[in-house]
Amino acid sequence: MTTLPSLISMMSQLIASPSISCSQLSWDQSNKGVIELLEGWLSSQGFQCEIMPLPSQPNKFNLIATLGSGDGGLVLSGHTDTVPYDEGRWQSDPFSLEERNQKLYGLGSCDMKGFFAIVLDTVQKMQLYNLKQPLIVLATADEESSMAGARALVEQGSLKARYALIGEPTSLTPIHAHKGIMMERIQVTGQAGHSSNPALGNNALDAMHAVMSELMMFRQQLKHQYRDANFIIDYPTMNFGCIHGGDNPNRICGRCELEFDLRALPGMSNQALMAEISQRLPSIEEKTGTKIQLNSLFPDVPSFYTPIESDIIKACEALTNRQASTVAFATEGPFLNQMGIETLILGPGSIDQAHQPNEFMALDQIQPMQQVIRGLIERFCLQPHEHKNEE
Ligand SMILES: [Zn+2]
Repeated sequence: MTTLPSLISMMSQLIASPSISCSQLSWDQSNKGVIELLEGWLSSQGFQCEIMPLPSQPNKFNLIATLGSGDGGLVLSGHTDTVPYDEGRWQSDPFSLEERNQKLYGLGSCDMKGFFAIVLDTVQKMQLYNLKQPLIVLATADEESSMAGARALVEQGSLKARYALIGEPTSLTPIHAHKGIMMERIQVTGQAGHSSNPALGNNALDAMHAVMSELMMFRQQLKHQYRDANFIIDYPTMNFGCIHGGDNPNRICGRCELEFDLRALPGMSNQALMAEISQRLPSIEEKTGTKIQLNSLFPDVPSFYTPIESDIIKACEALTNRQASTVAFATEGPFLNQMGIETLILGPGSIDQAHQPNEFMALDQIQPMQQVIRGLIERFCLQPHEHKNEE
């Protein structure tokens, strides 16, 4: 088996290969370079690599790399893309890994190219010749923009395993739940006209006022109905993010748009929430004589929940000596769970540094993360699969 480059060298090569994903097309890039680096290193360690272009974006790829075979098995998962960067706000080149003050700086250092380098380095040191259950490294595309990579995996149904760890930056705390995210737009169409006579038009702002009152009532209802003490903000939230409409005080506003997000707790269905909101709109249309449309700005991300009793959660709590907790950001976790893989989020680096200028991973995160990965491989790949509770 060939020797891999050093951990730091792998990390700097991954960071030097730009793979920004963004809903703004001027920023959006292929992740091909990162996928090819990972494929080369993983193949050299005996992994069978499968590169799958996304059906919707043929220049972006998921990679499934498998070592060993059999049922059960452990997935170590990460996304290959990064967010865009603020030019001029970085103290160093975002694409060149730089070590300063016990920290490794670079775009994707903690979110989350560094994780792959740590996984590869750990795997090489373990010399895994005789796995009882497969070890799978999963590298996805487009997590930061549309989660199209994870969605494609669910559709293809080709990923099979019992457990998964997603190495998003959680400062090494095991995470078993997060809220869902929906981003929606409501458009109200009335009729513009001269303001001197209200009968010359139909005011979209007046109708939007009714829509917002209705949404605020619904929000209050949700807050009373749903609580989950595992979250700091322990109720579902709805935020009005922006509103656009009209042009002049002396013109009846003909059109108005409101954008809002909705963050549901585990156990709530995004589809059911959408249906509830849609149901409330026709009566406002009727009362105001306007046309009201509800559309999603982005495909929704479901809430994520893995029971605290799951073996992967228990194993990670023991390995980190920390209780499983929740986070306020979304991950690919719900999609892996949809494939029947019990998933947890746990990774090196802090979310406080992710999506920021001068993103870094502190050096002291590396060794404890390697210990977690080693412990999980020993527990879930080097031991035979137990068939308890599966009858
Ligand atoms: Zn991330």
